[in-house]
Amino acid sequence: MGVVVTGAAGFLGRHLVALLRRRGVDVVALDQRKPADSRGTLLLADLVSGGEPVGAALRAADAVVHLAGCPGVRGRGPAVDSARWRDNVLASRRVLAEVPLRVPVLVASSSSVYGGSAAAPCAEADPLRPLGAYARSKVAVERLCEQRAARGGLVTVVRPFTVAGEGQRPDMALARWIAAAAAGRAVEVYGSLSRTRDVTDVRDVARCLVALLERGTTGTVNVGTGVGHSLGALVAAVGRALDVDVPVRVVPASDVEPPDTLADVRRLARLVGDVPRTDLDDLVARQAAAALAGRRPSRTVPALAGAAS
Ligand code: NAD
Repeated sequence: MGVVVTGAAGFLGRHLVALLRRRGVDVVALDQRKPADSRGTLLLADLVSGGEPVGAALRAADAVVHLAGCPGVRGRGPAVDSARWRDNVLASRRVLAEVPLRVPVLVASSSSVYGGSAAAPCAEADPLRPLGAYARSKVAVERLCEQRAARGGLVTVVRPFTVAGEGQRPDMALARWIAAAAAGRAVEVYGSLSRTRDVTDVRDVARCLVALLERGTTGTVNVGTGVGHSLGALVAAVGRALDVDVPVRVVPASDVEPPDTLADVRRLARLVGDVPRTDLDDLVARQAAAALAGRRPSRTVPALAGAAS
């Protein structure tokens, strides 16, 4: 049957599906929306309300990578909270219930479950301190994974740290900043330019997911780099990628956003054999080139032609 990837039309899902297919793996790409690349086996369905075709695909899989969900720490209000509950918790409950216990399931949680740490890298065994409803929904997903493991089921919880690269979700900081800077607008930075993020290249995330799948890992694992980048450094990389001066407007940060994030990557290194390293200039240039491809050339972005290479 092959590997079922849920959330296949999403940012991480697109990269993972492409990598698995390049490696000759049969993939069933499951999503409630149509992926941009509609080659290969596609199951267009909602994980919660989708009927027998969803159950049949999950029961027949050789492995499942469950990336579908309602991401983003910032949104507030009853509508987004109920989407988080439905698409994070209820969708994961269905996946974990349908997939036979002997079949490996990799589940995307999030670094947000740590709630951030001022200095020390966050390790998998650290106490969880979710700051908002998104992070709490991911903790609930992790509890469901623990229940599967307690029943003898194969399951790996993956905690990615700020993923960036081609096709990043438009609500994420780098994507917003690239769009703003390319339009000649100020970029909005939450909190302060000195806050830090462990930024992980989406290609590395896809590579780590494949390696974890191939090595039959279980338990919980951070997927990050162990290196923090200040928001100021990220903004500067946007300026270099677009060859523009980037005006910055610092606005108050939301209380659900951790001030800093940093992964302890020792377990990842042991499991995968190496640790992702992020080349910020290359990553931001690639993301900017992909985001602005096809747009009319603008005098404000002269560096883009070279940025795609
Ligand atoms: P994304 O929004 O781009 O992709 C999620 C996909 O899931 C979407 O295509 C959506 O249509 C699909 N989906 C949602 N609910 C569904 C349902 N009920 N049935 C079927 N499909 C459904 O998000 P992303 O950035 O690719 O993130 C993927 C996963 O990784 C999410 O679980 C997210 O919480 C987690 N994560 C992402 C990051 C990051 O930096 N992008 C960091 C940590 C964790």
